[in-house]
Amino acid sequence: MNIYVDFDDCLCETARYFSKLADELFGLNIPYEQIKYFNLQKSFSLTDEQYDEMMMKGHTPQVLLSYDETPGAIETINSWLDKGHDVKIITGRPFSAFDASRQWLNQHGLERVELFCLNKYGRDTFLKGSTFTLELEDYYKMHFDYAVEDSPSAFKFFNHLPELKVLVFDRPWNQDCEFPNQNYKRCLDWKKIREIAG
Ligand SMILES: [Mg+2]
Repeated sequence: MNIYVDFDDCLCETARYFSKLADELFGLNIPYEQIKYFNLQKSFSLTDEQYDEMMMKGHTPQVLLSYDETPGAIETINSWLDKGHDVKIITGRPFSAFDASRQWLNQHGLERVELFCLNKYGRDTFLKGSTFTLELEDYYKMHFDYAVEDSPSAFKFFNHLPELKVLVFDRPWNQDCEFPNQNYKRCLDWKKIREIAG
């Protein structure tokens, strides 16, 4: 099997960090549970300048390396690799975050997975001239049987694979989204993902 796994808020607890960071930087008290939109600028009601500042801070190597693992992610992925499945981490982080992201994976026992940066969200504002390692054209040549993703904004990247099973990691910002088809399943945790994908 070929498996696509998103990085932020699938492998690690990114939004929980941003909730704390918004408090630190701007004195905002918006707990993780109240992050209603995937777009953090909208969730936190930030100006463009504040959003850029927050995203820059959240993408420094030191911060990227500090994110906590989402419980069960690493064990599950390693069990897939042990069974001979192919797992690719497809992140919307820019290439400038690649080294720290690679280091996080290595430090957490995921040396064997491949990592790609795909421009999923068109976030060109906070890092001017961001580059990505994976061109859309090459992404569309990849085939996946399963995808683990939390962001409704990324669902469009699955439209070309009608058989793909999309395991939507349950997060506050994807509660109200409509799933494009019946192959989408909400998963409360990695235990559920493992039950479905084996
Ligand atoms: Mg994500």
